[in-house]
Amino acid sequence: MKVLHHLLNSLLPYDCPCCENNVMEPFATLCQECTNYFEKHLYLQNINLAHSLNKPLIDKREFYFHHLFYIGYYNFREKSVFQKAKFHNDVVMQNFLISFLKQNGQGYFQNINYLIPAPSSKDLIYFITQKLAKHYKIPVINIFKKNKKQQSKTLDQFSRYREIQNNIMLKNNKKISMNCNEKFLIIDDLWTTGATMNHLCKLLVNYGISHSQINCLVLFIRPKIQE
Ligand SMILES: [Zn+2]
Repeated sequence: MKVLHHLLNSLLPYDCPCCENNVMEPFATLCQECTNYFEKHLYLQNINLAHSLNKPLIDKREFYFHHLFYIGYYNFREKSVFQKAKFHNDVVMQNFLISFLKQNGQGYFQNINYLIPAPSSKDLIYFITQKLAKHYKIPVINIFKKNKKQQSKTLDQFSRYREIQNNIMLKNNKKISMNCNEKFLIIDDLWTTGATMNHLCKLLVNYGISHSQINCLVLFIRPKIQE
């Protein structure tokens, strides 16, 4: 229905779904200003931890993965796209993110053997993982489970980390069978402190997978840790 709605809207002038300011050209996904912005600011970027362990983005904690990929920082326009895609299930915004990853991920995804979605109470990450799996023909393994709804926003960093450790785990070990020589890509939506992602990687390392086989993709990184 949302696609149909968008199509109908495309025939009439309406506000950009991202910035909500500018009137759209017919059949455009975003206004010209947002389109120009994303052309400059979105690209698949790679942090190789072998080289950047002590750089400010990644603090001095030990990280259990090899590469971290992301497509941008969580600023105004990115935030708008992200929140609509995640919390309002906006199909147009979801497809915007997926198309971007399909167009830009080719060189990278070809080395990956399995995609693993991070556990989430929303559908966005599962949806993106499924679409990428289909496009790049990589199987998905859904191995993480989350025990209860997290209250992380109100906790300090230490309590947040403890909570993550206690509540996110591998599903029943007997049902999981992973070849430790394969390459894995864990996909999550937003990197805030990295605590969740690092915990997921640690679960794989504890399972027996070398950290050099583990890679991560997040959509956006919160800019405060960019400084
Ligand atoms: Zn716009």
